[in-house]
Order: sequence, then structure tokens, then C-alpha cells
Amino acid sequence: MRLILLGAPGAGKGTVAKLLTDIDGSVQISTGDILRAAVKEGTELGKKAESFMKAGELVPDQLIMDIMGERLQEDDCQKGFLLDGFPRTIPQAEALKELLEKLNIQLDGVINLDVPRDVILDRLTTRRTCVDCGAIYNVKSSPTKVEGVCDACGGKVVQRDDETEEAISKRLDVFEEQTAPLVGFYQKAGNLVNINATSSQVVVDTIKTHVGI
Ligand code: AMP
Repeated sequence: MRLILLGAPGAGKGTVAKLLTDIDGSVQISTGDILRAAVKEGTELGKKAESFMKAGELVPDQLIMDIMGERLQEDDCQKGFLLDGFPRTIPQAEALKELLEKLNIQLDGVINLDVPRDVILDRLTTRRTCVDCGAIYNVKSSPTKVEGVCDACGGKVVQRDDETEEAISKRLDVFEEQTAPLVGFYQKAGNLVNINATSSQVVVDTIKTHVGI
């Protein structure tokens, strides 16, 4: 399947994407994960992105389009892809549209995960992430078996730098200003599916019905 997952930080895009990749071998492409790996490795991209990320701001569109222009042409995308955290601005959505046309790729849909702000705030402040494999935990609802240690790979599980209360509040404001308008953009294009996303499993089942698997 070829889908865009839209939704605020903490709406469950990553969790849903991971559940969906297990179904048909589509790859999850998370721009946030790609950028965090670049920061960790200290690459040129990481150096350019780090300060924006720490402050909860968006990385410049051109950097993101350079990454995605290459990523979408890699072999593992042949089976399908789930875009998690991209596009995030109208210029990114327009550039993606052009790129997909050039590569002759058609999307199965754009899924908007709708979650109330209070649920998001609670999820983000209690979320923990493995620095090695990116697995997501929650200190309340899905803690690691051993505190601070990833169940999947044994890596260190931490609170992300951009999940302090201040950065979260900034990220939600940035989402409202720059990313929420994408709902209207894709509604106009006619391929938006709105899902009340309080439960990830309900989201996955609705998406399966939508794409017919
Ligand atoms: P995420 O893990 O998707 O919440 O992304 C973490 C951070 O990475 C965001 O707060 C941005 O600073 C940056 N980022 C991720 N995806 C994008 C994107 N498509 N456009 C701009 N910045 C992004």
C-alpha cells in the first residue's frame, strides 16, 4: 500500500505505520527517524537539522525534499510505503505531488489521524523512544519490561529531546499553523480519509478496509 499518514505529533502515525508494515511488507518512511539518525551520526544533514528539531521547529523544506527525492526511489519502496511525518507543509505536499507524478506512483490515500489535543499532550509527555531502533513505549500504557531498556533490541529507551513540555507545546503550535492546512489540501484533491484515531487498532482496521486488504 502507498499511503500518507497525517496527524499531529503523538497522533499515533509511527505506531500505526509499524502495524501496517507487518501486513504487506510496505516500508515505513519516517522523516523524523531519518533526521534523528543523521543527528546521532553527526552527518552534514544532522548538523543542519539539529537546532530546528531541538526547538520543535520544522527543518527547511528543501532539506526534506532532498531526502525524500532519494528515499522514494530506493528498491524497498517497490512493495509500498507509509509516509510518517511527511509532508508537513503545503510546499512539501506540492513538491511530493510533482515527485510522485514524475515517478509514476499513485497513492492509495491520505489518512488523517484525528486525536483530541489533551490525549496528544498526555501521550507525548509519557512517550519514550529507543535511541537505537526507534521502538516506541509509553510509561503508562506500554512500558518496557526493564526500565530504560528496549524490549526489542536492548537499546537505551529515553525521552526525546523535543519531548520536553516547552518543545511539545511548540511542536503542536507548528502543527496547527503549518501541517493542519494539509487536511484541506488533500480533501480538495479527493483522497483524504479522516479517522478518529484514539485506538491504533481501529485505525489499522479502517485502513485495511479502505485499501481492500
Ligand atoms: P517527528 O518524529 O515526525 O515528530 O519529527 C521530529 C522533528 O523532525 C520535527 O519536530 C521536525 O523538527 C523534524 N521533521 C520531521 N519531519 C519533518 C518534515 N517533513 N518537515 C520538516 N521537519 C520535519
